[in-house]
Amino acid sequence: MDRRIKELLNYGAALLEENKSLTPRLDAEVLMAFLLNKERSFLFMYPDNELDDSIIKAYLSLINERKNGKPIAYITSHQEFMGIDFYVNEHVLIPRPDTEILVESILKTVNKESSLNILDLGCGSGAIAVSLAYYLPKAFIYGVDIEPDALLISEKNAKKQGLDYRMKFILGNLFEPLTHNIKFDVIVSNPPYIPTQEIEKLQVEVSNYEPRAALDGGIDGLDFYRKIISEAPKYIRDGGYLFLEIGYDQASDISDLMSENKSYTETEVIKDLAGLDRVIRAQVQMRDER
Ligand code: GLN
Repeated sequence: MDRRIKELLNYGAALLEENKSLTPRLDAEVLMAFLLNKERSFLFMYPDNELDDSIIKAYLSLINERKNGKPIAYITSHQEFMGIDFYVNEHVLIPRPDTEILVESILKTVNKESSLNILDLGCGSGAIAVSLAYYLPKAFIYGVDIEPDALLISEKNAKKQGLDYRMKFILGNLFEPLTHNIKFDVIVSNPPYIPTQEIEKLQVEVSNYEPRAALDGGIDGLDFYRKIISEAPKYIRDGGYLFLEIGYDQASDISDLMSENKSYTETEVIKDLAGLDRVIRAQVQMRDER
């Protein structure tokens, strides 16, 4: 076998192409750079470098995992989100670029210099919670997750950024572990929202590898929204906000759930870069107006 980087990349990309990978060349490069512990630019600078047997063997084994559908982020244990490098594994959903819209909407709404208390329900990898702590220097962020293995990842990511001193991670089901007298300026969630029967129709990368519990929103995908929308006003200060990531076709159902609940005023649907509905923001009324 030709041991040169460029030839191994061609070979890896060709293997991935057989499985209709969308980005075979890029995937091969990312996996090779990961194994060599270098930036991708190294591959372009030294295409004729010859690699050792052990590296070639490891490379082909990663290509094979990728060929079977394993997401790159689970192979390398890393995913960039909001300019921050996150550790990820199979216990957490891989942070999506779409979810950056959720974080950005919060950053645009709040006063960045105030001492906000923010709660992230179902914090998973900590992508949302840690990004908020990163970009809101005076905020204190709480993350709740029902999955102990996920909570370990969010804690790890908070520590990695040196932000754990302004964050608290709590094990439990949505609002269950919270006391009633705690009030947040903002509650945010990217809950599971895929209708159960739709999960099998998603890409193999998602349906076979990502945690089912982080995707499955029940028969109509709205189970978590019902719970969060009905409970959240008890935990949000007057005039505070609820921010939810939503599926592209769920805006009207979720707006309805919000307008049925007298606690919310002013709901706004925010679109992602593809022009699809992605986020709902709702403000909680002043108490005497409810
Ligand atoms: N956006 C994710 C997907 O389409 C789903 C995320 C979720 O259920 N919260 O795979």
